[in-house]
Amino acid sequence: MDIQNYNRIVFFTGAGMSAESGVPTYRGRGGIWNEYKWEEYACESAFMVNPEAVLDFHELRRIEALKCNPHKGHEIISQLQNKHSNTHIVTQNIDGMHQRADSKNVIELHGSIWRMRCESEGLIIEDLDRGNYNKRHCNCGRWLRPDIIWFQDMLNEKTVQKATELIGKCDLFISIGTSAVVWPAAGYPKLAKSKGAYCLEINPETTELSSIYDKTIRSKASEGLSDIFSN
Ligand code: NAD
Repeated sequence: MDIQNYNRIVFFTGAGMSAESGVPTYRGRGGIWNEYKWEEYACESAFMVNPEAVLDFHELRRIEALKCNPHKGHEIISQLQNKHSNTHIVTQNIDGMHQRADSKNVIELHGSIWRMRCESEGLIIEDLDRGNYNKRHCNCGRWLRPDIIWFQDMLNEKTVQKATELIGKCDLFISIGTSAVVWPAAGYPKLAKSKGAYCLEINPETTELSSIYDKTIRSKASEGLSDIFSN
């Protein structure tokens, strides 16, 4: 496939993209929610009751992510971005793996474990490259929280708007490693298709949305991307 035939490209990635790097999944076999209750670690009310436990839990996610590295699929996307500047990534992943492969234009629908936020000042602090947080309190004294979308949180309106705009205008939409059952992500493949984009899915398993794609590739992310883009 020659990406120069397309004007606006969106890669839409989910947990399967990172799973291939070894980042633990949340659901399914070996998933984090089999071991932890999200009600105790991944929602605002848990943070209000026990901020230290919630931050400890997220430090573990950071430590696990740092043990993993971007795979060939991440690198292929990053290299394509160098050849075609109008290429964006909309990801549901919070682990920053695309950025670690030097990707630009990454829209993080569910936030990032590498940012902290002060709810009272609206301040966002980047906190990169180490498992433990650099600090757990804002200068105003309030607990900093991970800048991610927890259970029962609303998504960031501007982020959703940006993703919707990009996907609504793209002419090539490539979905990788997502079951796309979580909203609004679940609506994105249909949006791209309805606006006339060529839609491609890379996933070793059939998903609920597989039938709407123009082409589906039943393989791992790195293999699928290598097959499509090796020339
Ligand atoms: P999901 O768990 O619902 O689906 C993952 C999909 O990836 C499945 O369809 C599976 O068949 C596919 N898959 C597995 N291995 C693959 C591989 N090597 N290559 C390609 N595909 C592969 O994931 P989702 O759709 O992203 O939704 C889960 C939610 O959990 C999201 O909201 C996400 O924010 C969050 N989450 C994030 C991370 C992360 O940041 N790494 C990890 C787990 C979950």
